[in-house]
Amino acid sequence: MSVARRFRALIMGPPGSGKGHISKKICSLYGAIHIAAGDILRQHIQKRTKLGREAVQYTSTGRLVPDRLLRDIMEAAIEKADDRNFILDGYPRTLPQAKHLDSLVDLDFVINLEIPDEAIVEMLKARLVHVPSGRVYNENTNAPRKAGLDDETGEALQRRADDNPVVVAKRLRSYLKESWPVLQHYKNRFKVYTVQGRSHIILWPKVRKYMNRRLHKCPELKFKPRKNTDLMQCTGSKHSCEW
Ligand code: ADP
Repeated sequence: MSVARRFRALIMGPPGSGKGHISKKICSLYGAIHIAAGDILRQHIQKRTKLGREAVQYTSTGRLVPDRLLRDIMEAAIEKADDRNFILDGYPRTLPQAKHLDSLVDLDFVINLEIPDEAIVEMLKARLVHVPSGRVYNENTNAPRKAGLDDETGEALQRRADDNPVVVAKRLRSYLKESWPVLQHYKNRFKVYTVQGRSHIILWPKVRKYMNRRLHKCPELKFKPRKNTDLMQCTGSKHSCEW
């Protein structure tokens, strides 16, 4: 079997643009690990770790958590990905975070999702998540088979506390302010591919086309990611033994 080309990528886009959904599709089609800062934080929050207890004060009000809280867990997650393909989602969101990431890894490309604000508000109103796995549903466009329950485990889905319209507006403002310089940082390095659309249904085929072009020598599904990439178990994290 030919060895697949490796990629280390980042997906960017405002809250609710479907980064998580598209990342998961990339992972299952091309064999990669999804490293999602928000998912890792939510797991910490749900398990009430020390980090989670501090982070929730920020996430619940739509503010970014301080860089110092994320540095170690993201570093550990990237270390754990080892030599496998990965797609980072939600990290970096600030310039200091981007510089931290530069010191760890040289990204191959950045996929930037552009979606109008009003489409985002609509999308987030209908979003449901399965916190332990990070699986995301949408009551309108990607409903679970049984209302309110995760397709794979049957466990209850939740609405994110930060998906209410007031907090969403704050998150959109924060994205614009904090993440714009990050995008410029990567644009200056010619690494950004931007796709536009009103929902992930429109965005995904464009992303897929780009990925196929980039990885044209790497046939889809030639290899699979290892199962069980539970990022709460990351070794090397200062926080891994606190709970
Ligand atoms: P979204 O992209 O929809 O805002 P995420 O699940 O990526 O959602 O993140 C949820 C929350 O976690 C953010 O609103 C923020 O409070 C926190 N967060 C996630 N990633 C970062 C980051 N890189 N830096 C600071 N805070 C973050």
